[in-house]
Amino acid sequence: MKAFRYERPTTVEAAVRAHAGGALLKANGIDVLDRMKERLDQPDRVVTLVDVPGLDRVERRPDGSLSIGAMTTLATLAASADVAAACPTLATAAGQAASPALRNRATLGGNLGQHTRCGYYRFASFRCFKRGDADCPVQAPGGVQEPAGIFGIDLCACAHPSSLAPVLAAGGAVAVVASAKGERRVPVAALYEPPARGKASDWVLGEGDVLVRVEVPPVVAGSHRVGYEEVRQKAAFDWPLVVGAVWVAARDGVVADARVWLGAVAPSPWRAEAAEKALVGKPFTAAQAAVAGEAAVAGATPLPGTAYKVELVKVVVRRALVAALERRS
Ligand SMILES: Cc1cc2nc3c(=O)[nH]c(=O)nc-3n(C[C@H](O)[C@H](O)[C@H](O)COP(=O)(O)OP(=O)(O)OC[C@H]3O[C@@H](n4cnc5c(N)ncnc54)[C@H](O)[C@@H]3O)c2cc1C
Ligand code: SF4
Repeated sequence: MKAFRYERPTTVEAAVRAHAGGALLKANGIDVLDRMKERLDQPDRVVTLVDVPGLDRVERRPDGSLSIGAMTTLATLAASADVAAACPTLATAAGQAASPALRNRATLGGNLGQHTRCGYYRFASFRCFKRGDADCPVQAPGGVQEPAGIFGIDLCACAHPSSLAPVLAAGGAVAVVASAKGERRVPVAALYEPPARGKASDWVLGEGDVLVRVEVPPVVAGSHRVGYEEVRQKAAFDWPLVVGAVWVAARDGVVADARVWLGAVAPSPWRAEAAEKALVGKPFTAAQAAVAGEAAVAGATPLPGTAYKVELVKVVVRRALVAALERRS
């Protein structure tokens, strides 16, 4: 690993200043240190958020919404009674991610900002569009395709690794980002943009941007239902193959509004709008959940090695909706 200067600011303002001008921002470093050891990132300066007080706070506000500091660990999210009450699917997703040891260190901000685990991206000896090469070897003959995506994969076929991002996007959560210009609010659904050549990460935060907290509207008992479902190859120490997160507002048993988000199927979290359309205005039933599952794969362009994910998407969306139906929250 290349030698670097380690900076430990104690305020958000100082972290913003230190992060500007090319320093690599670190939460607890699970992804950052992997990337540095693999020499994908070779910064002269690393700025850590570990000494900024208050960034690990979870608060339930009087209106029932949650404010979750960017340094909150996944273990805290999984165990918090406030998170379980206001957004139970966030607690579920956090509690199933990675492994117990990793959840004790993995942070909300780092989870949303982690880079793709695509094997070609992770090893500098391979070609990779995201690292500046002209094409993507996953799509070439003989490319290893199984972990890749099925939506929006024409330039980069990777699968977004965060289990939490689809839950937060479905829940209408908002990220609060500090920069030299002050704080701005970005819906989690708008935190990511399409892949570009030479742009390692698809999230919209740049140098000098520090995610401070995420605000999550409450799931209102009697009006809203939420559900989460994932499929994994291994129960621990791995990323999911497909994630489905749903938020449904129903009145008198009829769906008034619905949000359906998928993870691990596209370079960024993916909104399944056709599934939402299949739900709105219809009775909220298990049969309609199956119809929405079928609709969720509209627009999929699987590679030969990722065709299995089409079937998984149908299943996770149906199961997430049935979980929402049965949760009665
Ligand atoms: C074996 C393994 C299995 C895993 N399984 C899962 C899984 O099932 N589901 C899942 O969702 N995740 C999974 N993860 C990811 C894990 O949960 C961590 O969230 C992730 O690695 C980030 O770690 P970190 O919080 O230490 O962030 P870091 O590594 O410190 O940071 C990650 C990125 O986010 C940026 N960043 C961090 N905080 C901020 C901030 N406040 N503002 C702006 N940018 C920021 C950093 O600059 C960096 O680019 C897994 C990881 C491993 C190693
Ligand atoms: S899928 Fe994306 S990250 Fe992986 S090699 Fe292709 S361009 Fe790079």
